[in-house]
Amino acid sequence: MFQLPTCDDDAQEVQSIIGRSVASNLRLPERHKPFMISRKHATITCLRANGRNVYTIVDNESTNGTFVEDVNIPSVGGRVLAGDEIVSFGGPRTCIDRDGLKFDNPYQFRFIISRGLAQVGSTSDAPVNCASTRCIDEILQCSVCHDAVVDAHVLPCSHNFCGECILKWHDTLKNKNQGTTCPNCRAPYAAEPTPNPSLDKLYELTVQPRMPLRERRSRDDRVAKSVRARNARDKKKMCKRLLRSALMSPDIVNLLVGRQAPA
Ligand SMILES: [Zn+2]
Ligand SMILES: [Zn+2]
Repeated sequence: MFQLPTCDDDAQEVQSIIGRSVASNLRLPERHKPFMISRKHATITCLRANGRNVYTIVDNESTNGTFVEDVNIPSVGGRVLAGDEIVSFGGPRTCIDRDGLKFDNPYQFRFIISRGLAQVGSTSDAPVNCASTRCIDEILQCSVCHDAVVDAHVLPCSHNFCGECILKWHDTLKNKNQGTTCPNCRAPYAAEPTPNPSLDKLYELTVQPRMPLRERRSRDDRVAKSVRARNARDKKKMCKRLLRSALMSPDIVNLLVGRQAPA
């Protein structure tokens, strides 16, 4: 049961985001069918009208749509939820997989006013072709941001993370003078996390071909952002090193203490 927040005053509006992103209020992990759920798939807003809570749902231009009682809802305006409806994400209540086989949508919920979303449907009816891909998807998931790993970096314990996620984690621990430990298994490590391009390659070969174009673009953006962050970090580190060695040079020391440098 996912409790939706209620609204106590007329000027207020409370939003809940449902999606794959860690920033979602209700996160739908992609265990059943990869990329069925978009990062910020849909939003449910609670507002107060005539002294009672009114809930509206909009689809955030998700790849596979949001459905209320099997009707695809629009991205603009959305629709009001009256209560006791089945809301499904990524498809209607019964979906069809790539092989044309029917399966129960694992992301369907009964909406109950003032209570929230109660999961319905049998999750054991996962699509048939998922056993091996599910395993790969789990290996390729970063346990910091819970999204697919981009610009992979590995620790000695063999856990992989996005470059940006793990370097941020590493720097935060270092800045606090704390020992560095793996965010997944807590094993201590000493050296900096190392890039693992073979994991990126594995992703490209196994998951990328199944990805819708929109997801692929959003992944490209994440890769570019991670590489930019890593380059900026490297530059900063190099500047610090240069400054430190410059400050140690006899010329600079002499300059600072006001002595003439020997000819
Ligand atoms: Zn990450
Ligand atoms: Zn680990």
